Amino acid sequence: MEDGKPVWAPHPTDGFQLGMIVDIGADALTIEPLNQKGKTFLAPMNQVFPAEDDVNKHVDDNCSLMYLNEATLLNNVRVRYSKDHIYTYVANILIAVNPYYDIPKLYGPDSIKSYRGKSLGTLPPHVYAIADKAYRDMKVLKMSQSIIVSGESGAGKTENTKFVLRYLTTTYGSGQDIDERIVEANPLLEAFGNAKTVRNNNSSRFGKFVEIHFDEKNAVVGGFVSHYLLEKSRICMQSNDERNYHIFYRLCAGASEDIKKKLHLGSPDSFRYLNRGCTRYFASKDSDKQIMQNRKSPEHLKVGALKDLLLDDQGDFNRMCVAMKKIGLDDTEKLDLFRVVAGVLHLGNIDFEETGSSSGGCVLKNQSGQTLEYCADLLGLDQDDLRVSLTTRVMLTTAGGAKGTVIKVPLKVEQANNARDALAKAVYSRLFDHVVKRVNQCFPFETSSNFIGVLDIAGFEYFEHNSFEQFCINYCNEKLQQFFNERILKEEQELYQREGLGVNEVHYVDNQDCIDLVEAKLVGVLDILDEENRLPQPSDQHFALAVHNKHKDHFRLTVPRKSKLTIHRNLRDDEGFIIRHFAGAVCYETTRFVEKNNDALHMSLESLVCESKDKFVRELFENSNTTKDSKQKAGKLSFISVGNKFKTSQIVCLLSPESRAVFSFYAPRIWNKLPQNLKSASAPVLFKPSVILFSLPPHFCHFYSTV
Ligand code: ADP
Ligand code: MG
Repeated sequence: MEDGKPVWAPHPTDGFQLGMIVDIGADALTIEPLNQKGKTFLAPMNQVFPAEDDVNKHVDDNCSLMYLNEATLLNNVRVRYSKDHIYTYVANILIAVNPYYDIPKLYGPDSIKSYRGKSLGTLPPHVYAIADKAYRDMKVLKMSQSIIVSGESGAGKTENTKFVLRYLTTTYGSGQDIDERIVEANPLLEAFGNAKTVRNNNSSRFGKFVEIHFDEKNAVVGGFVSHYLLEKSRICMQSNDERNYHIFYRLCAGASEDIKKKLHLGSPDSFRYLNRGCTRYFASKDSDKQIMQNRKSPEHLKVGALKDLLLDDQGDFNRMCVAMKKIGLDDTEKLDLFRVVAGVLHLGNIDFEETGSSSGGCVLKNQSGQTLEYCADLLGLDQDDLRVSLTTRVMLTTAGGAKGTVIKVPLKVEQANNARDALAKAVYSRLFDHVVKRVNQCFPFETSSNFIGVLDIAGFEYFEHNSFEQFCINYCNEKLQQFFNERILKEEQELYQREGLGVNEVHYVDNQDCIDLVEAKLVGVLDILDEENRLPQPSDQHFALAVHNKHKDHFRLTVPRKSKLTIHRNLRDDEGFIIRHFAGAVCYETTRFVEKNNDALHMSLESLVCESKDKFVRELFENSNTTKDSKQKAGKLSFISVGNKFKTSQIVCLLSPESRAVFSFYAPRIWNKLPQNLKSASAPVLFKPSVILFSLPPHFCHFYSTV
């Protein structure tokens, strides 16, 4: 950098600004902004970067910039975004910016055709080029491949995942039903596993790994979807301007009169599980505004562009039914799904009140009688059994020497509410498991030579209020970031070194300390939470304090009141904690952490659904914990850790360095069946993630829009 050359210097709100160096001090530079002649400011030496000679010129691959640094990379992506070139390479990594409107012809059939068999870089950067590279690598290397899609919530991960699937099935499909089914499975999965959040009208609340399998001739033969941990708390509760899973509203809006009557459905406003969130069919005003602001110019408010702002539940219901038909679901199966969805809604409307008697129990409120009847009817349960199971719990007693006697303990109103919600969550999440299982039956394959897998998880998120769900999601994203650090930054650099290439070392922030903070044995936040759950009287406050106590001077953890960031709410130490994630600091409010970490359904409820008269409901609960053995432990099973389930889920294991090697060899569902010792052995990496795709939300570019 020298006097008179343009540089990128820090800007308090816009990230970087363009300027000229007018003086070079010992450790600071005096900069004159290009758009404010005569006005100068000081900038630390290490925060000023050389700029390209022509800042309005852009390149397809950031690696071909004359000066590659954070500012030039961002500027390049920004300039491209403003010209609707939303994709940019960094060698064989693809950066995608979410345009929030349909760019004409970008994804059409001609575009698909043009990328077939083309090496990266011969055509403009595109997600299709990445898909084709994965395919060609699979063919040449005779190895399965994976595409990792990373980025914060709303950045466009799921849309890009769908483009990859469409590209591969269209280009390398066998021309049979299977190709279309792999694509059509998505609307069904999204109906049950996606919801409107303030970040994204169609936010995935589960992670998935979709494999497309190929035969020895490298043609598509089938697919397989593995899913990871649906966000269960959403089933019973959403924040004001968010919604429950799409299917609930779609069913209320789009089902035929006949079905609505059968399922006793009314407006979403009449259901507790929907009416505390946003029940309107359209996005709320605030989020409309948010999305509007995210658009780069009024140009983007063209007719077609507006459709993103709207959630058309009725239209979506019809589209979902078409998808169901295409993947082979018949009317009976469809009705099975709808019946359970409606059953969950009615279950949510059951209300309790104190009995007023000395036993301190509760009863159903009068007006809940009809609701109980609907719910029991739809889920194939006996009304009285359901009533009793919701208001009492079975315990094993040792009192009075009568060891092992089963007694029924009356529940307080709050406990009955929890039991009801736990049942709703159990039923719905089992239903979601079933949907995924059913989807997998639509594209079966007998033999497969290799597969291409696409990983699409719930992205990093932070809201005004962040709870246990954000904590789990962000932990998972932290793992994904570590995977990226290891795979790209560490391994590549080691390779350069081995080969004696004189490439400057790239420094990156190792996030192992953050991961340890969450998952370390005994001292990690997840274990501290589990310990709290096992206390006779667990409390969120006690848990928050325990976290602070264990990690007083941890770089990654701080008490909310110490935060200089005004976006963080003013919380007491026993109300939350802040974690400095790789993607930014997030303040977690610990209210309801303890409750949300418990997945246990008390035994009488579990046996109730396991013995449902409805075959479909019964099958949902097959393989449940309610074996004879565990029934005997009825009183003891009061805690099943959600956090721990998350920690040991395939997704997190997959992203752990030690498991990756083995996982990479076996397809995920085979992984499930592997003996434990094999899982932790380190086998050769046979299945390498070939391509990484970063999606960026448009506000990322906005950040620099004033340059
Ligand atoms: P994520 O999965 O990262 O949370 P999504 O893929 O669901 O985000 O994207 C959010 C929304 O942004 C989509 O519903 C869609 O409206 C819009 N979007 C994303 N990618 C594109 C794209 N390439 N072209 C047009 N719109 C897009
Ligand atoms: Mg998504």
